[in-house]
Amino acid sequence: MASKNRISVGAIEIGDGSPISVQTMTNTNTEDVRATLAQIDRAKSAGCDLIRISCPTKDSTIALREILRSDQKIPIIADIHFDYRRAIEAIEAGVHGIRINPGNIDSTALQEIVKALKNADCALRIGVNSGSIERDILDKYREPTAEALVESAVLNCRKLEDLDFTRVKVSVKSSNVRTSVTAYRMLSQSIDYPLHVGITEAGTCFPGTIKSAVGIGSLLLDGIGDTIRVSLSGDIAEEVKVGRQILKSLGLLAGSIDIVSCPTCSRTLIDVIGLSKALEEYCENIYLNMKISILGCVVNGPGEASNSDIGIFGFKKGHAKVFVSGKELGIFEENRLLDLMMGIVINLKSS
Ligand code: SF4
Repeated sequence: MASKNRISVGAIEIGDGSPISVQTMTNTNTEDVRATLAQIDRAKSAGCDLIRISCPTKDSTIALREILRSDQKIPIIADIHFDYRRAIEAIEAGVHGIRINPGNIDSTALQEIVKALKNADCALRIGVNSGSIERDILDKYREPTAEALVESAVLNCRKLEDLDFTRVKVSVKSSNVRTSVTAYRMLSQSIDYPLHVGITEAGTCFPGTIKSAVGIGSLLLDGIGDTIRVSLSGDIAEEVKVGRQILKSLGLLAGSIDIVSCPTCSRTLIDVIGLSKALEEYCENIYLNMKISILGCVVNGPGEASNSDIGIFGFKKGHAKVFVSGKELGIFEENRLLDLMMGIVINLKSS
């Protein structure tokens, strides 16, 4: 169930009913500060709330310091594996959060990290992945099952509690959708920390989007998940867009325009596909709670239109009836529909 704890990562609140945030991770060489900053900009433009940067070397944490100095106005999380000194350097550079994979960090190193976290304004994610579970847990379960992921996560939460550190969020990711979903469901019954939800290594854009939507969407429908990351072998801006779309499809994204359009058939009287695509593109960066329906004929058109902020449906060949806030505005020629809808959106935005 939804987490009871709330933590902040920079200015973003996570958990306990806070808006669900969308995050991604840069895939530039972190030491290339200019390229990394450019990618952060792209992620922000796509609507990203938090960004993670991998820090595998000392030079990368030096670059991270420079990135942080440039005040990106987005919380930055350092991704750390194997060498705890990178975590300390990142924390001392002023990073807003770090992610560690406990299977790759020993207990002594964890104590050092916690000491640094307590001295700084910094949060921690325990990021358990099926590819890097502790050896003894893996030996017990023989393979990275949901139970193994959860045992590792809970064990590490307890280790941090023993060190009196609870500014924590947790993830238990597998590339297998069923394993991930089962693990998160079990984990949500065991701990109160905010959950970072995702399907790891989900694949290229199309299959990865489907896997992520099924996995993350199932969990969100159960009320599980406080921040999400879609992991695609592709453009990071796409990851953000897919993440936002998953939230939008569940009504969990504030300020989003929901465009309902029919699949079209032989009854279609207007260019539903062209109009929907053009309007979707136009609305991409407009933040407004609104439903727009575009349907091809009178079969379902009037019903949807009367329940939409803007509703249009094919009424006769090349013409549509237009409704605004449930009231009929009139019948318009097809070539006027896009401009008309864009104008109404802008009016509603500024009203
Ligand atoms: S709304 Fe009309 S045009 Fe669109 S799919 Fe349904 S029947 Fe066909």
